[in-house]
Amino acid sequence: MAISVFNLFSIGLGPSSSHTVGPMRASRQFVLQLKSSNRLTQVRRLVVDLYGSLALTGKGHSTDLAVLLGLEGLTPEGTDPNQVIPRTQQIRQQQQLVVAGSHAIVFQEATDLIFHYDKQLPYHPNGMRFTAYDEHNHQILQQVYYSVGGGFIVDHETAMQDRAIIQNAHQIPYPFKNAATLLDLCRQHHLSIAELMMENEKTWRSEEEVKQGLWRIWDVMQVCIQRGCAQEGILPGGLKVRRRAAGIYRYLQEQDKKPLDQRDPAEILDWVSLWALAVNEENAAGGRVVTAPTNGAAGVIPAVLHYYQKFVKDASKEGIVTFLLTAGAIGILYKEGASISAAEMGCMGEVGVACSMAAAGLAAVQGGTNEQIENAAEIGMEHNLGLTCDPIAGLVQIPCIERNTMGAAKAINAARLAQVHGDGVHRVTLDQVIATMRQTGHDMMSIYKETSQGGLAVNVPEC
Ligand code: SF4
Repeated sequence: MAISVFNLFSIGLGPSSSHTVGPMRASRQFVLQLKSSNRLTQVRRLVVDLYGSLALTGKGHSTDLAVLLGLEGLTPEGTDPNQVIPRTQQIRQQQQLVVAGSHAIVFQEATDLIFHYDKQLPYHPNGMRFTAYDEHNHQILQQVYYSVGGGFIVDHETAMQDRAIIQNAHQIPYPFKNAATLLDLCRQHHLSIAELMMENEKTWRSEEEVKQGLWRIWDVMQVCIQRGCAQEGILPGGLKVRRRAAGIYRYLQEQDKKPLDQRDPAEILDWVSLWALAVNEENAAGGRVVTAPTNGAAGVIPAVLHYYQKFVKDASKEGIVTFLLTAGAIGILYKEGASISAAEMGCMGEVGVACSMAAAGLAAVQGGTNEQIENAAEIGMEHNLGLTCDPIAGLVQIPCIERNTMGAAKAINAARLAQVHGDGVHRVTLDQVIATMRQTGHDMMSIYKETSQGGLAVNVPEC
């Protein structure tokens, strides 16, 4: 069982990793299974059933569009965000899908894409069932998948064997499931957390390929922010949420022209907020983002990385690699010890985890020891414990977009407390805080776990 940094940072589509990216991947996997078993041409009808949180917030999270495109064989990485609406409108108007890109069938959403608002499948709140029928209405293939957060999917069989998130059979040199083991391994082998991660990544690809892959992730984050800073207007979905990044960007550019003694010392906070807002406004608009480690929380890590690049002395390209590998190691701890799914953990699993990962990454590139990095990650989560997920109208907009600004600011503060003002010795361990997060998530009522049945979602009118 091994998770790569590229499982935690992947190039995807907004607005949700669990409700958009995961269902798209599951839909595609199902039709590819039909194709590889030479049953694709027998298919006359496909039925998709969505359960639990996927049903309750699926419309707001574009799950329906993701399923349509996935059934046509498209990937989140390979789909042009500008083509999502035109292609899905065409499918709807013609009531026809081109399954796996080559086999056309009639697809009527009213009967073939069903939202089960009051039912849940056994393993996870984000369940999907896919069924294919032949011309005699006989079942050809049925498969159940779960979208378990961050775009990861598992099929039912794997889930029941409790072997979730198996990437492949490769044996990595330094396996770890908790922070204590990670720190021990680093001590024994005289490695930093990033160096240890690199050794594990070299199981799958060369060191150069790992670096190039991480720089590509960084490029996509930067492009996303540039696009987010240039867009104005109202976000889709009906809540009439106004995009703010472009206005803040203009303000900050004006401030940059002023002499230092006339500048507001809190400007750094504005920059961090700007970068997070830019990403999450793009995400809410269904744009291209890096899932990091989820889409709802996709702004935290790019914002902290931009902070590093703009404000930390001697920031470098190699530092980007160190940051992302370190953050990836911390993300693995959450996947192993709790979950990054909001349907299981509330927003602790999204913005909380991203904050913890970003804090660790920043502490690492600022020269922190492994113990200081672990402390930064711990602080990053400790002060997100209990964070609920209650998006208004099921859209990844309120509270999600602003919440990323808070996550990014908190991550920078956590890194400073642990690395600038700490020596790595601390009272609460990261493993303890992950265990607390897991228990808190389990105890949290389902209305606060990506169902839009509680919190802001019921106390704020939608229009
Ligand atoms: S509230 Fe948090 S977890 Fe829920 S959709 Fe928004 S960002 Fe994701």
